[in-house]
Amino acid sequence: MPHATPLSSAPETLTPEASSLDPRDPNWDRLMSRVRETWGFDSLRPHQDEAIRASLADRDALVVLPTGGGKSLCYQAPALVREGLTVVVSPLISLMRDQLASLQAHGVSAGMLSSNMDRDERSDVFSAMAKRELSLLFVSPERIALPGFAGRLDEAGITSMAVDEAHCISHWGHDFRPEYRQLGEFRRCRPEIGVQAYTATATPRVREDIARQLGLRDPISIVGSFDRPNLTYRAIQRVKLIDQVLEVLERHGHQPGGSANGAGIIYCLRRKDVDKLNEQLQAKGLRCAGYHAGLSGGERRRVQEAFRTERLDLIVATVAFGMGIDRPDVRFVIHASLPKGLEQYSQETGRAGRDGLPSECTLFFGGADFHGWRTLIERGVAEAKEAGHPAPDALLETSTLGLKHIYGYATSGVCRHEQLVGYFGQTLKHGEGASGCGACDVCLGELEAIPEPLLVAQKILSCVVRCDQRYGAGHVAEVLRGGKGEKIRRARHDQLSTHGLLKANSVQEIRSWIEQLAAKGYLHVAPGRYPTLQLTPAARPVLAGEETPILFKPKIATSTKRSRSTSSSRGRDDLDERERELFEHLRATRREMARRKDVPPYVICGDRTLVAMVEKKPQTLTSFRALHGIGARKAEDYGFAFLEVIRAFLAGEKDAPT
Ligand code: ADP
Ligand code: ZN
Repeated sequence: MPHATPLSSAPETLTPEASSLDPRDPNWDRLMSRVRETWGFDSLRPHQDEAIRASLADRDALVVLPTGGGKSLCYQAPALVREGLTVVVSPLISLMRDQLASLQAHGVSAGMLSSNMDRDERSDVFSAMAKRELSLLFVSPERIALPGFAGRLDEAGITSMAVDEAHCISHWGHDFRPEYRQLGEFRRCRPEIGVQAYTATATPRVREDIARQLGLRDPISIVGSFDRPNLTYRAIQRVKLIDQVLEVLERHGHQPGGSANGAGIIYCLRRKDVDKLNEQLQAKGLRCAGYHAGLSGGERRRVQEAFRTERLDLIVATVAFGMGIDRPDVRFVIHASLPKGLEQYSQETGRAGRDGLPSECTLFFGGADFHGWRTLIERGVAEAKEAGHPAPDALLETSTLGLKHIYGYATSGVCRHEQLVGYFGQTLKHGEGASGCGACDVCLGELEAIPEPLLVAQKILSCVVRCDQRYGAGHVAEVLRGGKGEKIRRARHDQLSTHGLLKANSVQEIRSWIEQLAAKGYLHVAPGRYPTLQLTPAARPVLAGEETPILFKPKIATSTKRSRSTSSSRGRDDLDERERELFEHLRATRREMARRKDVPPYVICGDRTLVAMVEKKPQTLTSFRALHGIGARKAEDYGFAFLEVIRAFLAGEKDAPT
């Protein structure tokens, strides 16, 4: 396995480990059998056990796990074995609704309260609460602060509280929601209940802010690995976006008349980019839909619903599409331009491969993205200031830094997994003998090093000096290429000794090398309306020929090499033709069951479970029950229908001529 586990890190003011908890908690065995019985999981994922132990011991905790890391089980499972009610605070109705549907499909007694429910629905929930029938209750942060509501929770026997997406409480985070602040007050009035905060946001500043604002008591900090070994990352220069996107889509069977393997999301920066790309893809005969804040509420709900229920597998969207999208079989996430920062990139790509199966994340970027973002950020900060944001300077600082990080990620030619976990303060150790992570374009050798990097670097650095360190990358590249445009002639840069030194290369190549040199710290891009290139002290040894930077050829087409997964789990792509046929039958059955129950298909079961059905071909309810992801309730509800599909398939196989 090329991947080793990154080391966990924890902010200093938080207690770093959960080992203080008694490992012989009497509830533990009961809990594990409930997890097996209810969810059909044989084991817990890393850190889930610590979080669950903390919850069972009524210890406050801050749990930081990446998207797809399995946070929900950490508060759902303890709720089933402890006395009383566990309240889960969640920022979005769609998140609550999907979790609730999932829990109910597992036979758990849970409820939710939201503003869009009618009076009858709400009073049913209130009466279930009063009768103490519920193990879990999902609510919005606003509701907690409603007069009289806290009292009702006391009557319902609240013993524990989980705060999901807890970074929303911090204005240092990227999703600040003022309503979250009211949770601190609730907590202060009820010091006896354990409060666990969950987030995928990892900056120490946000973590500490969460602990403070929520009034956590001596919280245990549980920080998981931020590496997602089943995701293969690539960062590629954008040339002809539509062709580059089509290439990725094709790899996943998204083509006219093709049978798509799972779902995909394509993120664009602006609404008009979404509309354009969506139209282009539709013109190619692809089934896709656009999604952004400019569409009517009804249209957005329709698209989201179609995606949730697997009637639609391809979405072109702004980042307005995402939170509350829990579809586990997203096989690829494409970014058509730079995202806002590494934190956001990690969140957005985190939506791929939640089911642990191999998935890919491809970022297409160009030099213009950086400046586009700067303008957007400046505008955003000005608006926030007007709207009374408590700390607009913090916003500017966070955003600018985020942008720098993502730019470095795209251009530096350093292992992408390493950079991502590095951003979250963790180190990735490659497995023994492995030359890299095995799951990014850098380590897969898809980036090709150029033969004479020292010479090229020296030409570029000297040209920056000749241009008095007062021009931007575009201009310097033009000069090196020997351009004779007006701007060059006016500055007399056609007279420079460096003019035309890289005549044989394209502007695109030269720009890419400039970006690589900047990402490696040899050049500094001085910010401003027209960003200019300057040398850093690190450039001196290169000019003196004492240090050779590695430079890559810009990669402008994706490789068709299939990414290798570091996880042992097989995906649909690993099945042979016959097996895939059975998979599609099972998938259709799942879709039909979901439609009848009015839930998203993954609530019935995930793709991993379907693949397991194909591999094991169970013929009895007992062997069906042993599949990954099948608990008692699910076996009872859906077992026979799936067994029938398998039986029919096997019968067909026997009858088929050989
Ligand atoms: P998060 O909230 O951290 O983004 P989720 O709670 O949605 O992640 O879990 C991601 C996926 O992992 C879900 O499909 C869930 O069923 C699965 N999962 C969680 N815990 C386990 C486990 N112990 N074993 C197997 N699968 C798990
Ligand atoms: Zn790598």
